[in-house]
Amino acid sequence: MQRNITVAYGNGIGPEIMDATLRILDAAGCNFKYDVIEIGENIYLSGIKSGIAPESWDVLRRNKVFLKSPITTPQGTGYKSLNVTIRKSMGLFASVRPTVAYTNVIHSHFPNMDLIVIRENEEDLYAGIEHQQTGEVIQCLKLISKPGTEKIIRYAFEYARAFGRKKVTCMTKDNIMKHTDGLFHKTFLEIAKEYPEFETNHLIIDIGSARIADYPESFDVIVTLNLYGDIISDIAAEVAGSVGLAGSSNIGDSFAMFEAIHGSAPDIAGKGIANPSGLINGAVMMLMHIGMPEKAELVQNALLKTLEDGYHTPDIYKEATSRVRVGTNEFADEIIKRLGQRPVILKEVKFNHDFKPIYVKPSPYVKPSKELDGIDVFVDWVGTDRNPNVLGAKLSEIASKTDMFLKMITNRGVKVFPDGFSETFCTDHWRCRFKRKSDDTKINHNDIFNLQKMIFDEGFDIIKTENLYLINGERAYTLGQGE
Ligand code: NAD
Repeated sequence: MQRNITVAYGNGIGPEIMDATLRILDAAGCNFKYDVIEIGENIYLSGIKSGIAPESWDVLRRNKVFLKSPITTPQGTGYKSLNVTIRKSMGLFASVRPTVAYTNVIHSHFPNMDLIVIRENEEDLYAGIEHQQTGEVIQCLKLISKPGTEKIIRYAFEYARAFGRKKVTCMTKDNIMKHTDGLFHKTFLEIAKEYPEFETNHLIIDIGSARIADYPESFDVIVTLNLYGDIISDIAAEVAGSVGLAGSSNIGDSFAMFEAIHGSAPDIAGKGIANPSGLINGAVMMLMHIGMPEKAELVQNALLKTLEDGYHTPDIYKEATSRVRVGTNEFADEIIKRLGQRPVILKEVKFNHDFKPIYVKPSPYVKPSKELDGIDVFVDWVGTDRNPNVLGAKLSEIASKTDMFLKMITNRGVKVFPDGFSETFCTDHWRCRFKRKSDDTKINHNDIFNLQKMIFDEGFDIIKTENLYLINGERAYTLGQGE
């Protein structure tokens, strides 16, 4: 049966590497019909700031699978990242980026490196919720959800299982972000119990990144949050020495996008010398995703054989390891000639032929019990000399007329009232924590609104508030540093 695939030729070297890739897929007998959409530079410049025309969305939705060449993002503000737009609009929660060293064929500092970064793709600081509410401080909201975390971690384990991997490493910064990153780590530990065949471990992201740069061979599958994953997948690609070779996928419940990890390389566009391997590897991931493991194996083994036979594009050509310097088209021709052959020096790829596309579901929603414990009121204030004791005395007096008390004030997270250090530098952004008088005191939204009204009436500029809850009986907010 013929299958429709949405294709975008992209910009710069995009059309050259896409032509090469589609020729290989056709020669491998994939029987695809390509629905071509235009995205990127021309669409941006025609005034559509997202880089995708409305009619292209229909094609994307209909076909559910998208093979995309790199696109050029025009310089200047106002252009949205097309990748971020597609990821968010189409619910692409998982980014999967394998990085492998082609030992003895292409130079790499780490010949045994073969790792996959699986990164949460929709949440974290990438929600893009930023505010400036005082003259001196700007915030960015880090949002981590339980369903989002469960889905990506389960996906990582299912992926590891489907691809015969042995070890899954989780990376977070939960020594600092105990609740957001803490949820990710805790969920990892819980879900890992369902996959006892894997060796599992957790690393704090800073030492984890350092180890990827120094001992990448010690990693297999890494699962992490959006920002950390973005950074470590680039570190991994860089140390493998193969930015032009790696492919990646972005996976959602009903839609997936496959591409090379590199950009549109305008410096070599039109010269016929671009390396199409990254997009070919992206296409191999696509073949696996849509349940065509034999074709994925056929194409990838032919690519590996071509590389080990020394047919190299200029970006990877080296006297010591290469035999013939080829352009994009000749490289594709050599791959096509080798369809059906297997590599000898490089490890032959054998995929699981029973592979089924991976679908994951988060657990059903369970309404938690919530008890209001207090409120953090943020105020924009400098007073005469930014003295926290002045602010503290005034707010304590206001709170004394309510069922709450001023527990503390922090400035950039550091406790400055009561008993702060005089050395702590204070900005104009103060977090004032009011708690109910005792565990037996019941407070509701009316109480916290009244408190805010009283603070406002005394002339304070309230810029935002955060409710403090006990969720299922547990404190669901962090203590201030020094609280
Ligand atoms: P780039 O990846 O395009 O190029 C970096 C360097 O690597 C260049 O010297 C280039 O010639 C080389 N290179 C990249 N791919 C190659 C290949 N397949 N074969 C041989 N050499 C290759 O990064 P850049 O220059 O920072 O970005 C150029 C444009 O691409 C920008 O507009 C950027 O926004 C865009 N971009 C798009 C994507 C995407 O669509 N997924 C990703 C990254 C960058």
